[in-house]
Amino acid sequence: MTATPQRTRLTWDYSPAPESADHVRLRDAYGVFVDGEFADPRSGRAAPTVNPATEQEIAQIAVAGDEDIAHAVRTARAAQAKWAALPALERGKYLFRIARLMQERGRELAIVETMDGGKPIRESRDIDIPLAAAHFFHYAGWADKLPYALAGRAHRPHGVVAQIVPWNFPLLMAAWKLAPALACGNTAILKPAETTPLTALLLAEICQEAELPAGVVSILTGDGATGAALVRAEGIDKVAFTGSTAVGKDIQAALAGRDVGLTLELGGKSANIVFEDAAQDQAIEGIVDGIFFNQGQVCCAGSRLLVQESIADEFVARLIDRVETLRVGDPLDKNTDIGAINSQAQLDRITKLMEAGVAEGATTWTSSCPLPKNGFFLAPTIFTDATPSMRIAREEIFGPVLTTMTFRTPDEAVTKANNSAYGLSAGVWTEKGSRAMGMAAALRAGVIWDNTFNRFDPAASFGGYKESGFGREGGPSGMAAYLEPDEGIYR
Ligand code: NDP
Repeated sequence: MTATPQRTRLTWDYSPAPESADHVRLRDAYGVFVDGEFADPRSGRAAPTVNPATEQEIAQIAVAGDEDIAHAVRTARAAQAKWAALPALERGKYLFRIARLMQERGRELAIVETMDGGKPIRESRDIDIPLAAAHFFHYAGWADKLPYALAGRAHRPHGVVAQIVPWNFPLLMAAWKLAPALACGNTAILKPAETTPLTALLLAEICQEAELPAGVVSILTGDGATGAALVRAEGIDKVAFTGSTAVGKDIQAALAGRDVGLTLELGGKSANIVFEDAAQDQAIEGIVDGIFFNQGQVCCAGSRLLVQESIADEFVARLIDRVETLRVGDPLDKNTDIGAINSQAQLDRITKLMEAGVAEGATTWTSSCPLPKNGFFLAPTIFTDATPSMRIAREEIFGPVLTTMTFRTPDEAVTKANNSAYGLSAGVWTEKGSRAMGMAAALRAGVIWDNTFNRFDPAASFGGYKESGFGREGGPSGMAAYLEPDEGIYR
């Protein structure tokens, strides 16, 4: 019998749906934000921030030096006692005001986040910016309820806190850091990442619009050297850092023996574990979201896929079919699934680790999707036949690259998942509730998602075990990092 000839072939495609950036008004150059004002940096230095999708310069950004840091610490110190002495309800009102202004300027913030960092507009519009505003709302509500958050124990703010954030979620990480710090009565000096300073600078404008007292928030842009100098500066009472484990270790060493509080939110190599009874279509969507959200540049990315051996071949084949449909391209296009990698340096790091995977003998599959000619783009890639000793199974790749392994029993899944220097998150896909609960108890990870992945909520705490860092962000436990025990009574 001959096969029925294919008489029609429909090609389904999307027309471009670019978000307009016409209404965004950025300055050509930004100074540092200290004492409630933008000013030229005392260092006299500046560097460009570049759109990673076009490689075009967007603006010149101040590179803060030692004198800028000393000035910011002085003004933050001068403002702190008054800020902490405000009735807590009043502090909360400022945070509510900032949250509302972030919502009002939400579209502009989303576009700027996408232009500066390369993430798809769908993500910055629907996740980064609303969640950032939600963190301010959440901690605004806690400002006058601190004793309830900490079981009635008396605490006081640390004082002046230095906060260093990375480039993968620039505004969201700034909100995770600033909102609880301010709610607890601290003043803060924030250093955004060199490649993504713009939304933090727009947040500085929002602080001005909200009439936040001068010195309560300072934004010091700059490079790694600025961050290194900031954490070592005299007059800092607490450091909160999110970024790579290597820099986290350097900061920990620099602060050893000093009376400076520290919380570290570092890297991850998180396992997404699929059992044979899982709802496969749902699991595939979760795996895709787990590793390709924000081009895989996510500390808690589900970068290690563990599939039960009995379904592995079928599951991986279906996963590959699904990933083949993802669209890589202009981050400002609302149809784009995967945007640009944040920088050339990050693209180089990812490709180097991919080469290591090939050299070590894993099988590679790469999507055939077309890539734009300019900009830092990478097609989604899946490694199969990987073993736990390979670099692609151990090191944080921080890109759209999934490493797949198999397991036979739940115990083996736990052993393989826990066989990591990190312990930030994990996903468990099974229809059996008792198995999900058992796995959650056995996995050494700070966040465990059951039949979902990458769900974030300001009320839920987030943080890691082992080399993923210490301290928690989000929810009531996120405030513990910004308070210290006190014999006195709450103000
Ligand atoms: P870094 O850890 O270097 O950067 C994070 C932040 O720390 C940035 O603001 C950076 O400034 C600043 N910084 C850099 N060096 C120092 C220092 N010595 N002291 C204080 N602050 C410093 O990450 P990278 O940008 O270099 O990324 C490298 C790798 O780190 C990635 O491939 C990824 O694996 C991992 N990473 C993990 C993140 C996470 O959320 N867990 C986030 C980002 C990266 P600047 O940007 O100006 O250099």
